[in-house]
Amino acid sequence: MKTQILLILAVVIVCVSGCAVGKSGKEAGKMSVKVEPFGKTPDGQVVQMVTLANRSGVEAKIITYGGIIVSLKVPDRNGKLDDVVLGFDNLEDYITKSPYFGAITGRYANRIAGGKFTLDGTEYTLARNNGPNHLHGGIKGFDKVVWKIERAKASGGILGADRAELKLSYLSKDGEEGYPGNLECTVTYTLTAENELKISYEATTDKPTVVNLTNHSYWNLAGQGNGDILAHELMLNADDYTPVDEGLIPTGEIRPVRGTPMDFTRPMTIGSRIKQVDIGGYDHNFVLNGRAGKMKLCARIYEPTSGRVMEIHTTEPGVQFYTGNFLDGSLTGKQGRVYKKHYAFCLETQHFPDSPNKPNFPSVVLRPGQKYRSQTVYSFSTM
Ligand code: BGC
Repeated sequence: MKTQILLILAVVIVCVSGCAVGKSGKEAGKMSVKVEPFGKTPDGQVVQMVTLANRSGVEAKIITYGGIIVSLKVPDRNGKLDDVVLGFDNLEDYITKSPYFGAITGRYANRIAGGKFTLDGTEYTLARNNGPNHLHGGIKGFDKVVWKIERAKASGGILGADRAELKLSYLSKDGEEGYPGNLECTVTYTLTAENELKISYEATTDKPTVVNLTNHSYWNLAGQGNGDILAHELMLNADDYTPVDEGLIPTGEIRPVRGTPMDFTRPMTIGSRIKQVDIGGYDHNFVLNGRAGKMKLCARIYEPTSGRVMEIHTTEPGVQFYTGNFLDGSLTGKQGRVYKKHYAFCLETQHFPDSPNKPNFPSVVLRPGQKYRSQTVYSFSTM
């Protein structure tokens, strides 16, 4: 009898929770997804904005242009929500002046020396958009194209984990910005009930090519535009980094951070030694401890006035730590806030810069039949 009652109960539960699964543009398990227009590109492509939200009020707004995270609201220690990423209020500013605010960067995030690499004996010449070098995918990288919405839905309830999800796709054609192979990419943003934002990247190709995808959010855990980030405390799970030349190209050396201003293995404020970094602030790739391809702790950042904490876990072997050195007060962003030097930091999980030309760095080659996979999880809490 007990078993029968349990069975009936189970059937009822499945029906009820089943109703909450897969609702698009509405609510499910207290998660919600909304899709609305954000603007049009000069060539007439419609850009949508997708809002993912959870029960605690955490809310991520992502646009289909560049897959840009235009805003991310998370609570402080008193539960007050604030937007912790830099950005603009309108599409035009993203198109005309954005230094990669919140965007997907690819096909190859960061620099490739001289805009050239050789793969299987063939030399490829890429767009040069950073002095003599190639940066963040070239002149029209993945940050400047309109991605297609594959899925935008909230799901969960009793049957599964509560989440709000957006899956974007983009086909980067053979020869785009000089890269070989048609590259089919998807990027999935998942907001969970536990205040995590997960970004999962996948790609396949029809010719051997190189791939390195990341998200280029500019963070300020005190709230975007609320001063500089020098008092944020940073822990980076990296015993080594890759020194660079004057063009910010790694020399190929992997050097221990111990005893240098690069050492964040114990929490230190970002500003404590920044003046000793000769290139005007941090703009370096750190070699993460732990195995590439396995999820591991990348960084923990604490902002003392708000109490906000962000932890980053990733499957990538490296992370570019950049302290907004090129922000100079000439950009006015959301809510009329002016973005000055060091008003944000970026932690771009990635393979190391210039890997296509550095045989001793982990490989970035993707071949037909293989699948590129990368995942980074940003978790928010307070202290
Ligand atoms: C690079 C910086 C660059 C910034 C914005 C970072 O990933 O390392 O050198 O200025 O992106 O383009």
